[in-house]
Amino acid sequence: MSIFPRISLRPEVTEYLKNVFLNKEVLAAVGQQEAESRFHKLLTCLSHPPSYTCVRASTHLASLEEIRHKLGEELKKQQMCSSSAEEFSLQILPHPQIPDVLLLPVHGPRPVKQLSSEVVVGAQCGSAVLRGAHVFAPGILASPKYMKAGDVVSVFSDLEGRCTRGATSFQGNKVFVGNGVAEMDRSSIFCTDEPPKGIGVRMVEPLYQSPSFDGVLPNLAFLQNLPSVVVGHVLGPRPGERILDMCAAPGGKTCHIAAVMGDQGEVVALDRIRNKIDRIRQNAQMLHLRSIKAYCFNSTQAVSSDAAHETEGPPFPPESFDRVLLDAPCSGLGQRPNMASTWSLKEICSYQPLQRKLFHAAVRLLKKGGVLVYSTCTVTLAENEEQVAWALDTFPCLTLQPQEPHIGAEGMLGAGLSPEQLRLLQRFSPELIWDQTETTAPLPCRADGDTIGFFIAKFLKN
Ligand code: SAM
Repeated sequence: MSIFPRISLRPEVTEYLKNVFLNKEVLAAVGQQEAESRFHKLLTCLSHPPSYTCVRASTHLASLEEIRHKLGEELKKQQMCSSSAEEFSLQILPHPQIPDVLLLPVHGPRPVKQLSSEVVVGAQCGSAVLRGAHVFAPGILASPKYMKAGDVVSVFSDLEGRCTRGATSFQGNKVFVGNGVAEMDRSSIFCTDEPPKGIGVRMVEPLYQSPSFDGVLPNLAFLQNLPSVVVGHVLGPRPGERILDMCAAPGGKTCHIAAVMGDQGEVVALDRIRNKIDRIRQNAQMLHLRSIKAYCFNSTQAVSSDAAHETEGPPFPPESFDRVLLDAPCSGLGQRPNMASTWSLKEICSYQPLQRKLFHAAVRLLKKGGVLVYSTCTVTLAENEEQVAWALDTFPCLTLQPQEPHIGAEGMLGAGLSPEQLRLLQRFSPELIWDQTETTAPLPCRADGDTIGFFIAKFLKN
């Protein structure tokens, strides 16, 4: 059900996206009316969360059934201890095709009454609350002047980043995300020398109810969007191989790759941002994965000019890896929920050249006969199908490969790719099933469509 307005974008960005979704090839295939309807559904579904939570189970440590059982027990305990007035039925379902995925339905939007005491949080924090998180203190921007731990408050998400930190109220563009109980006084949030840590507001009546995974089986249950889990399987790493993950932080996919390999082999994880490398290492440690080696490095420069250069870390000689994952930095326009983006068109268009530089390095670092997977969490043609068309043109050694599993839609028309090529691509397009998300269709059937916007291409280097 739509309860939030469509994602708010700068007019120039809306116009750009409209031209993408109503491009000539699409119009010729489906007609103006259907193309417009898909575009409007896209803008609406982006501002709403998916109707389930996806958990990747650490099947390198225990069986899926064992993890499912333990998770059920933990979440039941959480429900019993919760101060929430209402209980909701707890379902944990295996995905019919993906062996390490568990799906938990989200209940919402629910009728929750707004209160007079308001806490305002940043948009990122608000989105996390809509996906089952509590409010962590650093995300709080405004609170009532005399807020004490134990006060019951309504939580609002600041859509346009206009609320000043430390304010006592905020009249700008905001949306209600649920009610909670403050765990801290106002002074411990705003009047401390150290940045505040921990839960600031414990959500008891969220608009969208799903279990909180904070501290729940951290080594066995990893929250990850369904298309991101698909990426690890499409890459298809095998025990003993050497894999490169070029843009790895915070390491969700890196850890999945190592887990699929049974932690046998080597997974090299690179990221340009130093403090993000710690997140990769923490995640690897938490999931008991030893085959991961993480380095802070600019992947566009990861190919050594000296072919004989043999060191453990980057740069690497050409043809060093059996498989390469390029989960590219991108405009992120597929994230859900995302109610507002203030990005300019220039910012959105700045990713294509960087992705191409990374692609050049990826192809050089891959062995002949090796597999390259390119993925993004965005919906533009320029960062997805156009990149595939460019790559096939630029690197005659690359051919597109079928993907397993292929649970998303095919590639989008508009980049001049053939129908056969489009069928080999995997595009997760939540707008295509937005009308059906309210139906009673069993969760495993609707889960494959009700995802974030995402794109995957798989190549073989000949
Ligand atoms: N693969 C990650 C996961 O599944 O957890 C998410 C990766 S995120 C889409 C993109 C990452 O690329 C960011 O962490 C960013 O710091 C990194 N990045 C951007 N430019 C880079 C570059 N030139 N070299 C290496 N990493 C880069």
